Amino acid sequence: MAKFKIIHQKELCIGCGACAAINPADWVMEGDKSHLVDSQKEKGENGEQEFRFIDDSKYKQNQEAADACPVPCIFVKKIE
Ligand code: SF4
Repeated sequence: MAKFKIIHQKELCIGCGACAAINPADWVMEGDKSHLVDSQKEKGENGEQEFRFIDDSKYKQNQEAADACPVPCIFVKKIE
């Protein structure tokens, strides 16, 4: 089973709500930005970012959220 890392470069998020509309199980709105549910925080190239590891079962809906992000600031990377 493939594993993926979702990265949310939260500093860049403009709070449009597209990710939460497409995938409300994993994305919620918090104030003027979205939040990746069950994520952790780390330092990234654009400031503090949220990340979470997922498997195939959550890939499609999170890639759709990433594709809909107008910035973009959501990335789904295959890690194995
Ligand atoms: S789609 Fe992108 S810009 Fe819009 S709320 Fe989600 S992460 Fe932020």
